[in-house]
Amino acid sequence: MIENHLSGMKIRNGAMMFICSTCKVPPNFVFGVEQTGEFVYLLICPKCGIGLGEWNSLDARDSEEHFRKIRVMIVDRKIYPLHLAISHTWKVHYFRADMAHSEENRRKDGEFLDDMARAIGSRAVTALERIAATLDLDYGGIDFAVNAGGDVLFFEGNATMVMVPLAADEKWDYRRPAFDNVFAAVRRMLTARATAGDGERPSQLLR
Ligand SMILES: [Zn+2]
Repeated sequence: MIENHLSGMKIRNGAMMFICSTCKVPPNFVFGVEQTGEFVYLLICPKCGIGLGEWNSLDARDSEEHFRKIRVMIVDRKIYPLHLAISHTWKVHYFRADMAHSEENRRKDGEFLDDMARAIGSRAVTALERIAATLDLDYGGIDFAVNAGGDVLFFEGNATMVMVPLAADEKWDYRRPAFDNVFAAVRRMLTARATAGDGERPSQLLR
């Protein structure tokens, strides 16, 4: 079992990293291709060359065989829908997804923004709320997909998630309320903290 050569090690900043149990060095990550044509990540020890493990790709396709990347923002530990990008390729960024040229995809994005729970299911919303609670952030975001089986595929969650300003084109008007919701939530949070009267100095407002 190749996994026997892989062991976890705690490093100074508290993050866990994996090392080759023989050589005590972290593996290199290389792309490999499974027989099915799917990509897998291979973990290869750069010193002894032993394969330490592999990570299979997970299927992020929806019931229509498209790839989706959904972003919710976190403000004061609550989640707010920001966009649902749909693409025919697996690496989805909103700006180059099939959105600007597809009225149908923008309609699906709009449905997600109007009623997140209906669009992705209450189970997915609950999972996102648990991720947000665990992250415990004033501001952040979560990127994820929901596959045909209704499972959440968590891509990433962090405190540097960007809200790219919307262009003036009226085709994006349906997205403006979602942006305004996030801005309003930020304003509410800052105002509440500033007027809380609990002795916090301004420099401590943004923990
Ligand atoms: Zn090794």
